[in-house]
Amino acid sequence: MKVPYLDLNIIHRKLKSEFDMVYRDILQSGWFIHGKYCEIFEKEFAAYCGVSECVGVGSGLDALRLILAALEIGKNDEVIVPANTFIATILAISYVGAVPVLVDADEKTFNIDVRKIEEKITERTKAILSVHLYGKLSDMDSICQIANKYNIFVIEDACQAHGAERNGKKAGAFGDAAAFSFYPGKNLGALGDGGAVVSNNKDIVDKVRMLANYGSIEKYKHIYQGYNSRLDELQAGFLFVKLKYLDEWNLERRRIANIYNERIQMKNNGSSGKNDNVVHVYPVLTKHRDNLKSYLESKGIGVNIHYPIPIPMQAAYRKHGWNRKDYPVTDEICRTELSLPLYPGMAEWQIEYVVDIVNEYMIREGVYGRK
Ligand SMILES: *Cc1c(COP(=O)(O)O)cnc(C)c1O
Repeated sequence: MKVPYLDLNIIHRKLKSEFDMVYRDILQSGWFIHGKYCEIFEKEFAAYCGVSECVGVGSGLDALRLILAALEIGKNDEVIVPANTFIATILAISYVGAVPVLVDADEKTFNIDVRKIEEKITERTKAILSVHLYGKLSDMDSICQIANKYNIFVIEDACQAHGAERNGKKAGAFGDAAAFSFYPGKNLGALGDGGAVVSNNKDIVDKVRMLANYGSIEKYKHIYQGYNSRLDELQAGFLFVKLKYLDEWNLERRRIANIYNERIQMKNNGSSGKNDNVVHVYPVLTKHRDNLKSYLESKGIGVNIHYPIPIPMQAAYRKHGWNRKDYPVTDEICRTELSLPLYPGMAEWQIEYVVDIVNEYMIREGVYGRK
C-alpha cells in the first residue's frame, strides 16, 4: 500500500516514550480505574472544549446513551437526528427506548438540514441530537434557536469533531451536553476504546458520572440503575499525552484538505480549511464513486465510504419502515461519497500522489470538462 487510508503509527511512533512513561507510572501505582490520569484528562479536555465539566466514559456510543438517560429521555419520547450519520447516533436513542426521528442532510454541508427540523417537531420531541459529521460543525446557531423556541434539549454528537470551532466556540460547547468518542481512528483517539461527555451543566455531568458507575456516588449505595461505562486509567493517560498535539494535528488535516480543495474539482462538504472543520473525513461526491474507488485501490491508495448504507435502509431498523426516497440528500451521499486518505504525518509525495491519481482518472473518464 503506497498511501493507506489512515496511518496511526506515524504519530504514535513519536509518542512512544511518553506512552511508556504513562504505562509504567500506572502499573507502579496499581490504580487502574478512576485514578489521577482520569482526573487530569477530564479537567484538561473540559478546558480544551471551553466547558466547565467533563466525565470520561467507555465509548462514544455510551457517552450518547448516558446523556439521553441523564436527561430522562426514554419511552415514547422522540429525538430529532440527522439521517446521514454513523449508526451509533441512532442506536443510542433506541437503547433508551426513545424514537429516532430522521431529518435529511443539507446538500452543502452534508450535516442535518436545519430547514427541515421544525416540521418534524411534535409534542413528544425532547431533543435535537445534532452530529458534526466528517469533522464539520453543524449549524448550531439555527439548531439552538429552534430548540429554544420549543423548549427542548440540544445534544451534540461531537465524536468526529474534536476541536472544531466557530466564532471561538468549540464543538461540545454549543448544546446542553456533548458526546465524544476516543476510538483510535478519531481525531483524538485512545489506544483502545474510550469516550467522554462534556457540558456546562454540572447536574447533567454529575448524573452521567453516577450512571456510568453503577448509578452510585458512594460505594455500594446505588441511586440509579446505572451502567458500567468508565474511561480506564491507561486510556486516560494515553489521551492526556495526545491532547497536547490535537491542535497541531487538526491544523495539518486542514492544510491537506486545502490542497485537495484546490487541486481536486469535486463536490465536497465545504472543507474549506476553516476552523469549523477538523476534517475527520475528507468526502468527495461523484457518480463514478465505485469505479474511482477500484481505480484508486488498484494504484495502492486506501479509501473508504462514509456510509455505504443509509440509516433508513439498515436491516436493524427495518421495523421503522423508513424509505430512502424520503431522505434524498442522504441517499445521494451514500450512493456517491468517497473518503480520500487524510491524516497527520501524511507525506507530501503521498498527498501529491492521491491528487494525481484522482485527476488522472477523472480526466481519462472525461468527468472533468477542463484541460
Ligand atoms: C465513532 C462515532 C460514534 C461512536 O463512538 P464509539 O466510541 O465507537 O462508540 C458515534 N457517533 C459518531 C458520529 C461517530 O463517528
